[in-house]
Amino acid sequence: MYDALIIGGGAAGMSCALVLGSAKPKAFAANKSIGIIIHQKTSHLQTALFNNVLGLTPGTTGTSILESGKEQLSSLYPHVNQIENEKVLEVSKNDTDFIVSTNKNTYQSKIVVITVGYTNLMTIKGLEQYIEPHPRTAIEKDRIWLKNTDHLIEDNLYVAGTLAGWRSQFAIASGSGVHVATDVLTLWNGGKDVKVHDKVHDKVEV
Ligand SMILES: Cc1cc2nc3c(=O)[nH]c(=O)nc-3n(C[C@H](O)[C@H](O)[C@H](O)COP(=O)(O)OP(=O)(O)OC[C@H]3O[C@@H](n4cnc5c(N)ncnc54)[C@H](O)[C@@H]3O)c2cc1C
Repeated sequence: MYDALIIGGGAAGMSCALVLGSAKPKAFAANKSIGIIIHQKTSHLQTALFNNVLGLTPGTTGTSILESGKEQLSSLYPHVNQIENEKVLEVSKNDTDFIVSTNKNTYQSKIVVITVGYTNLMTIKGLEQYIEPHPRTAIEKDRIWLKNTDHLIEDNLYVAGTLAGWRSQFAIASGSGVHVATDVLTLWNGGKDVKVHDKVHDKVEV
């Protein structure tokens, strides 16, 4: 049983997981159970090369980000459960929670964040009614989005990244995942706005 379960281990999914994980010191997030189904096989990062992203050394490969993202998550925020080698087949709902079925297991979560990318090969059962042509790509590319308002599809069901309707740039997809993470944290904080920042300690004069 999760409080929040992220589906997809690309730019948006891992960015969302990092920010949710980083909120652990805050009382309202301390006991929340967070998971990510960190499927990466079909991530657009598999073939991407980055020269135009602030903070990434020019020449950084997407495959290195896929690897280092998982390591960053497990070393800094080990309480975020990384579920590997599973692909989501269906998202359904009971009275209060979402049921996420993969090719191997079934999970229950209060909140679900879908970040599986914008290709029309997305075939997760239970989401069909939200699929529409992507609003910000050339029509011949045949991309999709899950209709949402400010990332929210319905109560407690979010979408992030290119599948949320954003153009395909790494910083936008990552930022979208972070946006959802801070929305979820704000919800957990009773509606009071949340951000999670680390800070260098004050320098001591010698
Ligand atoms: C060749 C190429 C070059 C690029 N170059 C640049 C560039 O120079 N600059 C730039 O800013 N951007 C670039 N991009 C774009 C950038 O890679 C994307 O914008 C970004 O990866 C989109 O993030 P996302 O999270 O929406 O999707 P993705 O990163 O594609 O992540 C989706 C994730 O969902 C997983 N998934 C899919 N189906 C399921 C399922 N059923 N169950 C569980 N998980 C599932 C996938 O395996 C994947 O990990 C490039 C993209 C490509 C393809």
